[in-house]
Amino acid sequence: ATPMSIMVATGRGAGMGVLFRDAEAIEVFREVDTLIVDKTGTLTEGRPRLVAIEPAEDTDENDLLGAIASLERASEHPLAEAIVEGAKDRDIELSEVSDFDSITGQGVHGKVGERRVALGNRKLMETLEVDVGALLDAAEAMRAKGRTAMFAAFDGRAAGLIGVADPIKDSTPEAIRALHEEGLEIVMMTGDSETTAAAVARELGIDQVFADVAPRDKADKVKELQQRGRTVAMAGDGINDAPALAQAQVGIAMGTGTDVAMESAGVTLVKGNLDGIVRARRLSRATLANIR
Ligand code: ADP
Ligand code: MG
Repeated sequence: ATPMSIMVATGRGAGMGVLFRDAEAIEVFREVDTLIVDKTGTLTEGRPRLVAIEPAEDTDENDLLGAIASLERASEHPLAEAIVEGAKDRDIELSEVSDFDSITGQGVHGKVGERRVALGNRKLMETLEVDVGALLDAAEAMRAKGRTAMFAAFDGRAAGLIGVADPIKDSTPEAIRALHEEGLEIVMMTGDSETTAAAVARELGIDQVFADVAPRDKADKVKELQQRGRTVAMAGDGINDAPALAQAQVGIAMGTGTDVAMESAGVTLVKGNLDGIVRARRLSRATLANIR
């Protein structure tokens, strides 16, 4: 493209909340055939709500919620916010936490009073050697509804199952349709479980799912598609996503996400939803069509 057409596209993009870092980002976007999107916060609102508490036998529901909410107060994960809000809604008082630890892509644990409390996914329970066998069927039933299931443990023993739902953004179905019309294959990538991810993907008509992806493996998934000959754009919002954004031919950062993500991206969307990707793609295509 000519410097002039690039300048025009850059300006027009900015007016629509699509910030291209340089000419290359505009030019390569046209060649993209595969778009990888993060589930949480990109397809969904990113504001999950607590929808189910299933305490283990001999465990009190409010005691369980109080303990895990105390723990989650120290975490910045969107799931943590759902738990803390859920406790607030029930006027449950929170306690002091010591020895707090957060394991990226797994969950949190620490001491609440005299008790060791943990909340997170299956991997966290494996790491902490907690047997959650009795909760597995109930967890799978939650996931089949598109919910995220988390396991809670007290002093190394299963204490219950927590279900959280993150609504799909109103704008997502129409954006997916438009992206398909642009000829893009859409791949969802998430640290969430296979069953939850598949339920959401089915609802949205998403073509492929990478679930249970640890944050450090996201860039490898991008590489995997590239090795199959794909030209990949990757949209994400977290610090975790930065290496994957850098690996993709076009990294797309959500302006609502972290600075680190934006620094690694060729495109930043001021509003963090898929509409911006549709606009960026159309703009990139129009820019180059003009000069050929
Ligand atoms: P995503 O990419 O979907 O945002 P993450 O990699 O951040 O997912 O997290 C993967 C999984 O790890 C979550 O679905 C959840 O089960 C667990 N997890 C991560 N952080 C927390 C937390 N603060 N509290 C409870 N569970 C967590
Ligand atoms: Mg995330």
